[in-house]
Amino acid sequence: MFSSFILSQSKGILVTGWLASQQTVQFRLECSFIDTNLTISNIIAETPWGDPTNVIMQGSHLDGVPAGLGMNDNGSGSSATLEMALIFWRKYRKDSIYKIRFAWWTAEEVGLVGAYYYVTSLSPEERSKILIYMNYDMIASPNYQIAIYNGSGSTDPNLRPAGGVVQKMLETYFQKKGYTTKAITSERSDHAAFANNGVPYGGIFTGTEVLKDSTEQILWGGYSNAPYDPCYHSYCDSLTNVNQNALLMNTKAAADILQQLWETKNLRQVLSNGAQTVNTEYVKNNPKAAMPDIWAPSHIDNIMNSCKHS
Ligand SMILES: [Zn+2]
Repeated sequence: MFSSFILSQSKGILVTGWLASQQTVQFRLECSFIDTNLTISNIIAETPWGDPTNVIMQGSHLDGVPAGLGMNDNGSGSSATLEMALIFWRKYRKDSIYKIRFAWWTAEEVGLVGAYYYVTSLSPEERSKILIYMNYDMIASPNYQIAIYNGSGSTDPNLRPAGGVVQKMLETYFQKKGYTTKAITSERSDHAAFANNGVPYGGIFTGTEVLKDSTEQILWGGYSNAPYDPCYHSYCDSLTNVNQNALLMNTKAAADILQQLWETKNLRQVLSNGAQTVNTEYVKNNPKAAMPDIWAPSHIDNIMNSCKHS
């Protein structure tokens, strides 16, 4: 029995059109599934020093869907987190007075299982030691948006101050570079496990199967009326699907925010005093600023075609 199922946006538009014209719509659902038990693990690494009662945490999911190769979703985020962890360890490990914890989540694609397991396994006291959780899931979509989690608009009002601080940090970072950002509310990734258990969060997200609209095409280039990631959860989510420019831009942004966090004195207080001014829309910036090259339409076409053929 299915109580609900999800359609792609294009099919959804088709179906709502039929329904609007009073047509009866019949669905035939063909499903195959594997019923098995697996033991799988999150990977968690943290600094051996740093104040254990004040933890800065960052994570990305490491798993992918069976249909896809998983390079943008989420090789992009998990490799960025790995790179940051390595550089942090080599160059800055003694610089942070806070404990820094990196996570690579398992089983995100089957319902945020790894992250929920981790967060709900912690005692309320341990959870309260995590000052902020930063999530990076899909940060190199070929036809990207620059979307920032709207932590300042968290459903739980207690999370808004800290969520607002990191949101503002990211918005300011991109603003200085001249890039427009969009605030998004989403529970589609591992940060939801934190958000729903009292831990404030932030992060960057370049987009899935949802279509880029014409306003965003003006802001960020690329294709309008085309998915941010035409290979989302598909076989063609290979290395060629990773927009290297977006990956570099967003990894630098994420690294900058991590550094700002560990360099902030009295971080707990700063986060809890965060302004509750909420950006729920675009933060538009100097339109003359150069965007990092978005891929040529022909390149995106090639990826989409390779997807159709596989
Ligand atoms: Zn993902």
